[in-house]
Amino acid sequence: MAMSSFDALIQDLVIANRILANEDVVDAYGHVSVRHPDNPRHFLIARSVAPELVTTEDIVELDLDGQPVRDEKRTLYLERFIHAAIFEARPDVMAVVHAHAEDTLAFGVADATKLRPVIHSGSFIGTEVPVWDIADNFGDTNLLVTNMEQGRDLAKRLGVNNVALMRGHGFASAGRTLIEVVRMSVYLPRNARTLMRAKQLGGTIKYLSQGEIDARNRGYSPYSTETWRAWEYWASKAGCGHMLTRPDDEGTRTLRG
Ligand SMILES: [Zn+2]
Repeated sequence: MAMSSFDALIQDLVIANRILANEDVVDAYGHVSVRHPDNPRHFLIARSVAPELVTTEDIVELDLDGQPVRDEKRTLYLERFIHAAIFEARPDVMAVVHAHAEDTLAFGVADATKLRPVIHSGSFIGTEVPVWDIADNFGDTNLLVTNMEQGRDLAKRLGVNNVALMRGHGFASAGRTLIEVVRMSVYLPRNARTLMRAKQLGGTIKYLSQGEIDARNRGYSPYSTETWRAWEYWASKAGCGHMLTRPDDEGTRTLRG
């Protein structure tokens, strides 16, 4: 069954939600968004609902101020400004994840060890993972990003990097495709866990070298069979194998299964 590329993108966003929930990157909280394919000043994200429960009907369209572009009575995510501000600051970014994954949290509060790639699949988080502290510019808050000013401050700290840790809260990650940002967000906590365990073993930590990170990036293509393989696996494991579509050479999506 052929479907429009827009409908397929909405399906992909639902799949991304389910994968992130199934892989324990998000729980009741946390969200994933994708830039609108026809209007770069808009993006798509679920209304305020746990990622595990997101369906196509839950997807809403917001502008780069984090406001709904259509009349919307349903409650929206409080922290949607994270997405709006990153899309605003980074034209190259097509998809954003915000999550509170526990394994990443220690690296946002302890300054002794920086979160950097130590495993091959962690290479995509990039050489530099900045830590953003909301208190630096906003003092005592509830730590949530609840307006554009705070979102823009976070986006500024993220800079050109792929991931920023948010002190005492979680992380924000930015990618060129939904698959890329999901993959990065799945491997980020695993990389963090490995680094934490390596620290417990003691001795010197061997991080991925810049050359190794570059070599991994050179070998990566967002639409390769290898990349698709992970997406297909995670989606099937999360119970959404029937929703998978893969663009053919003409850009038409075909529902598989
Ligand atoms: Zn949050």
